[in-house]
Amino acid sequence: MTGTVSLTFSSDKAIALLSLGNPDERAITLTPARLQSFIAALNEVKSSKATGLVIFAPSLESFCVGADISLIQSITDPTHGAALAAEGQAAYDLLEDLRCTTVAAISGPCVGGGCEMVLACTYRIMTDAKSSVIGLPETKLGILPGFGGTYRLPRVVGLPKALDIILAGKTLKASQALKASLVDEIVSSATLLSRAEEIARGKNPPRRRKLALIDRILSSNLLGRALVKNRARTALLKQTKGFYPAPIRALNVTVAGLAQNRHEALQVEARELGELITTQQSKALVHLFFLTEAAKGLGKSARKEIEGQHFMVIGAGTMGAGIAGALARNSHQVIVKDTSDSALKRGKDHLTKELGKLRYLSSFERAAIANRIDWLQFPSNSFERSSVVIEAVFEDINLKKKIFQDIANRVPSDCILASNTSSLSVSEMARAISHPERFVGMHFFNPVEKMPLVEIIRGEHTNDTTIAKVAAIATEMGKFPIVVRDVPGFLINRILIPYLNEAVFLLQEGHSIEAIDGAALDFGMPMGPIRLLDEVGLDVAAHVSKVMVAGYGERMAVPDFAERLQALGRKGRKTNAGFYDYQGKSSAVWGGLAAALNLPSKPQTPLSKQEITERLIYHLVNEAMKCLNEGVAGSEREAAIKQIDLGTVMGIGFPPFRGGVLYFAQQAGLDSIRARLTSFAALYGSRYEVF
Ligand code: NAD
Repeated sequence: MTGTVSLTFSSDKAIALLSLGNPDERAITLTPARLQSFIAALNEVKSSKATGLVIFAPSLESFCVGADISLIQSITDPTHGAALAAEGQAAYDLLEDLRCTTVAAISGPCVGGGCEMVLACTYRIMTDAKSSVIGLPETKLGILPGFGGTYRLPRVVGLPKALDIILAGKTLKASQALKASLVDEIVSSATLLSRAEEIARGKNPPRRRKLALIDRILSSNLLGRALVKNRARTALLKQTKGFYPAPIRALNVTVAGLAQNRHEALQVEARELGELITTQQSKALVHLFFLTEAAKGLGKSARKEIEGQHFMVIGAGTMGAGIAGALARNSHQVIVKDTSDSALKRGKDHLTKELGKLRYLSSFERAAIANRIDWLQFPSNSFERSSVVIEAVFEDINLKKKIFQDIANRVPSDCILASNTSSLSVSEMARAISHPERFVGMHFFNPVEKMPLVEIIRGEHTNDTTIAKVAAIATEMGKFPIVVRDVPGFLINRILIPYLNEAVFLLQEGHSIEAIDGAALDFGMPMGPIRLLDEVGLDVAAHVSKVMVAGYGERMAVPDFAERLQALGRKGRKTNAGFYDYQGKSSAVWGGLAAALNLPSKPQTPLSKQEITERLIYHLVNEAMKCLNEGVAGSEREAAIKQIDLGTVMGIGFPPFRGGVLYFAQQAGLDSIRARLTSFAALYGSRYEVF
């Protein structure tokens, strides 16, 4: 039956075979109904004569993805959360207490409650399939593993490794899981079930790996545990700045659990889960989880169509080389074109450096990726077979138009033509070519290797097939696409620029950079707006500012500080000099800033941190609301809200624990934000034109 487990026995009745679901279920989640049937099946095994139990999933694609996340979202009472945890814990205690040999036969994702289930088995074996991963991602949802994971994992892999997995919400590939002793053996998909049954029959069981001596000492001894805990706590606080309660609580529960008996430890785990599940941070992170799932679904319909496509990237610069590398990592053949050998060499060097950072790749895998890219000088042939061309040359509309005009006549008429422009009109570029329905903006963010967002810009003629294909390409690269309209700044820069501008106005009024950047950091932004200007580059910022003023008029105007610093050779991070001075990893506000920009020594009207925060952050809300009302993120309001929330987290760094800019506004009260913006408009004028 769909939604429940099923139990059968081998013909000699010695081995019980527990399938976690029905073959037509794509992903096995632990709904209350499934847990109940799981408990009933285990009781049947307990009262049978079976000497072994094999737990497996009906499909090799997915073992078990844990609790149903909508259920997590719906819980608002800590006692309900704790009761849910207690139910799962009871089921897994029953599994652990069976007297027969229990073997988990894992293929596909085995995460969250799925992983906690297999931790209660005697043995875990796993296939070497790419989709086979195991881990505990709960802290990423603002909760902790609540089905016994904090109690069992450190007992299986030792405290340091358990914390590494639990606190970061990690999942491990089969080879990593074997190395961590989280699984006992890796097998092929074809032999998974037969090998599991063999082990359950006690034949040739995997050799148990002993924990390393250091892991044993750090896990079993009070002082060792205190040492690990202190180190982990310091690292966590540095990383999360105290904004995320779940990892800290998970740390406390996991370490304390090692000194407690099962009953005590699980009670604490359930209680803590109950408290975390109702926090605002968890609700925001779960909201974000659903947004990422929706974004992944965007390109689904075209996934098959992009297999075996011939990709061409024009421009081997920072962005072009990054995009080509991301395509090659996904097994695509790519041709990269640029105008000179030196530009191509720069691109190749960029790729080599970036591949070198991916430690998990073997040198063979790195070479295979690099070999998928051909670096060719422009002009040359080899256009005829292209099915997707992504352009990433200088930000110059005439140059881009010329390139597309030339290419459009040489590639098949259904070849997708995409520009990685960050500020130019996609519709205008499309006017230069035949079949403009295949033209689209594909705005990757810098650095491509790290930034998860891709803005897909729909020009006036872009058709749905083109959108679906580029969305599929983006998701295949592991990126999250959002589809936006072709307006100046598109969605992300349009929302970001008024916020950055406000930081410059605050500076002009005499507020210190420390106060401005500090307020944003305290709100949870990954860096302050003035530092972000340095990172973007003051030349780029000045250029984008012009585009925004041309597009939206005076309300986007900003004091010309970026131009003035640029004229002094201070372009930001890239020249080690901007608003800040940089030396290696350290930085300090430039001592000559006040004199160079004629800044007052102190503000005429002092502002509290709260006021500075509101002046900055409410700009993000204001512009996001304008974009929503104008349909910049699409005409369907609910979907547009989701895209704006995802885009602001992935593209601007809006704090994930606040769930995106519109989610935050809704929680904080949109009416009160509007009232505040109206009062700012009275004080500061047109830049606060309220949504
Ligand atoms: P870049 O200067 O690093 O690289 C541009 C490359 O284009 C150079 O290698 C240049 O030789 C090559 N080129 C110039 N004319 C060419 C031609 N006719 N044919 C082939 N190649 C040619 O620039 P970048 O930072 O990689 O930016 C490229 C594009 O990506 C721009 O449109 C930019 O706005 C956009 N973008 C940049 C960023 C960023 O932060 N760097 C972020 C998002 C989007």
